[in-house]
Amino acid sequence: MKFETAYSLTLDDKLSIYDVRDLNFDETADFDSDKDSFLCPNDACRAAFDTGSNTLSTFNAKNVNYQRTPHFKNKTSTRHIDGCRYGSTHKTATGENDDEREENFPSEFVLTRRQYERKAPLTGAEGNIPQDAAKTPSNRVSISHSTNDSTPDKTSVFAHPVECYVSNIDDKDKLKSMPLKIGEHTATYWTFFKKIEYLQDNKGLIYWGKIKAIKDYTSSFRIDFEKKVWLDKKPYSVNVYLSKKLIENYRKRTAFLEQIKAAVDSERALYCFFYGVTPELKQVPSKKNPEQTFGVFSANIENLDHLIIREAPGVD
Ligand SMILES: [Zn+2]
Repeated sequence: MKFETAYSLTLDDKLSIYDVRDLNFDETADFDSDKDSFLCPNDACRAAFDTGSNTLSTFNAKNVNYQRTPHFKNKTSTRHIDGCRYGSTHKTATGENDDEREENFPSEFVLTRRQYERKAPLTGAEGNIPQDAAKTPSNRVSISHSTNDSTPDKTSVFAHPVECYVSNIDDKDKLKSMPLKIGEHTATYWTFFKKIEYLQDNKGLIYWGKIKAIKDYTSSFRIDFEKKVWLDKKPYSVNVYLSKKLIENYRKRTAFLEQIKAAVDSERALYCFFYGVTPELKQVPSKKNPEQTFGVFSANIENLDHLIIREAPGVD
């Protein structure tokens, strides 16, 4: 079975696999999931076993361009106490597709990044102190994430709601029934994800579409979308610009460059998802005849945390 969250021994906190990926790629964070231990998120279950050996494995924690849904899972040696729901070997209703879809839908996409506080190094038996006793509430950074055993309800990692949408695209009823809040706006997953050609329908949504081309310019990348926006019976191209200065200063620079450079050369169908800006109609000079202008829907991406380029089989 998949775990929606796991307890990280080094961070003394429960993380989703998307948090783990975000930390692995973050060059400002001293974190490597291969050097951490991930344990059962059930507090009682975790306390019953030796933390050093009863660990979970991670799937796609480090793969920049993944196709199958990342997750934590039991190793063959992982044990759970009786009654721990993570010990169940029963297949879910989706059967063999268990590993192929994201079943934990966060109800909120938080726009400010989650802060992780590394706990002090363990000494001796201290590691066995129940975690609540070891925490001083006053110096805990107040994070808007649940630290109890229930399913975490919020995420600040954009890849998480995107994976929910993409991996469940064959289940529209589910996407139409799952709520999602971003900022002050609450809708369902289905309505929050808007095909790029319909971007005029509403502002402030997660726009997405198939990539036609990615142009590598001196100071920016331009992502052109395949579909056009129609306005007054005329079609207009849509694109977004990613400033190279923004990428240079990005905390996940290496992973991002690896991803976009692979995308530039890719022969596979790739899709771009972004949140935070809405492309607007602009008049730009024509290359052939600079005195002429033509209209294009365009936007400058402002936050690379809120943009993803990925494969998305089945969404068209
Ligand atoms: Zn357990």
